[in-house]
Amino acid sequence: MNFCSNCGERLVVLVPPGDDRPRFVCNACETIHYSNPKMVVGCVPELDGRILLCRRAIEPRFGKWTLPAGYLENGETVADCAKREAYEEALARVENLKSYALLNIPFINQVYFIFRAQLANDDYQAGNESLEVKLYRTDDIPWSELAFPVIREVLKLYCGDLVTGEFPFHMVDIAPQTGMGGAHQ
Ligand SMILES: [Zn+2]
Repeated sequence: MNFCSNCGERLVVLVPPGDDRPRFVCNACETIHYSNPKMVVGCVPELDGRILLCRRAIEPRFGKWTLPAGYLENGETVADCAKREAYEEALARVENLKSYALLNIPFINQVYFIFRAQLANDDYQAGNESLEVKLYRTDDIPWSELAFPVIREVLKLYCGDLVTGEFPFHMVDIAPQTGMGGAHQ
């Protein structure tokens, strides 16, 4: 961030009085521009023992598989966001959402919130951000072709829970990894 979105003056980085970390500060209009983590919301859409994955038609990770998920919008609940993303990416209607996992990714300033959800029917197809969408049995998940470490983590949790038949809420911290980017778009 270089310029003040309030008045257009150049910003400086400093620790404001009473604060404990550097912020972008405008000396002209005295606005402090806070930067906080973004929340990404999605779901594991289930149908008849299979889960719906989407192959990305956008960067980053073009061509890789992911769960329908995206940034929470202002004024939106996490459940509405999960439903919206399932529709945008897979033209799929999901229902019966159950809170499933929260994943902290502090090194890229993101928090993922993931539901389990039922596909309302088998009427789905690739949305604008997907090359294709496909129901996968968990035995067939394309582990080496997943878009993000956080998606791999969610699917690992899910496959583990399938074995026990219990799906408790998980809270996980994702650590930096080499060889795979983490940023979601
Ligand atoms: Zn300003």
